[in-house]
Amino acid sequence: MVQIEDTFMHQGMRRKLVAEIKQKGITDERVLEAIGSIPRHLFMDNSFIQYAYIDKAFPIAAKQTISQPYTVAFQTESLQLKKFDKVLEVGTGSGYQAAVLCHMGTTVYTIERIKALYDFARNLLPGLGYRPQFFYGDGYLGLPTYGPFDKIIVTAGASFVPEPLKQQLKIGGILVIPVGKSDYQIMKIITRVTETEYSEEDKGGFVFVPLLTGLSD
Ligand code: SAH
Repeated sequence: MVQIEDTFMHQGMRRKLVAEIKQKGITDERVLEAIGSIPRHLFMDNSFIQYAYIDKAFPIAAKQTISQPYTVAFQTESLQLKKFDKVLEVGTGSGYQAAVLCHMGTTVYTIERIKALYDFARNLLPGLGYRPQFFYGDGYLGLPTYGPFDKIIVTAGASFVPEPLKQQLKIGGILVIPVGKSDYQIMKIITRVTETEYSEEDKGGFVFVPLLTGLSD
């Protein structure tokens, strides 16, 4: 059972974090509200509490990272979420991004290739009131039997855009994915315009852990 403790101190630290990412250019109030509400410290090891509310990525288990809050906010804002959107997340990691998506009233499917992280997030989120559907699998393939999705977010750096993810977008749907080399990726915002046509926009540089194929164990 996870110890859920969210004190005035944590809430105060979150308000500062929200002010910081707002200052960096995030304007969607619903995104800012989600970041201001979710206890990010519970997604990290207890001993790293002082790092939970600074705007930096941080190591979690299995050599992965919980994304930088600004990056979470940027990707989430780029999805242009509407309440009840059906959203696929590739790369559950700590589950923090999935919590942000749930908080915004969307129906979330999240997939992770490392069993320990899949287990961690699956144990943590329901206690916080967030109930995405968790999948242990290879996100390169998406979730063909659950699609199509209104929105797809990939939270690991891909070397190319996986075709199954494009195929699992509804028409008018948006895919947000960092694409590039292992040490630097460009955030691509891909919209499915018609059955066969997609539009693509590049939105600045980021650094994510790599999107890998297959299961880790
Ligand atoms: N969204 C996460 C970020 C985690 S880092 C959070 O909020 O904490 C990216 C995650 O993507 C890692 O946990 C990594 O194991 C996972 N990942 C990498 N390749 C994957 C794949 N093909 N399918 C599913 N998950 C993958």
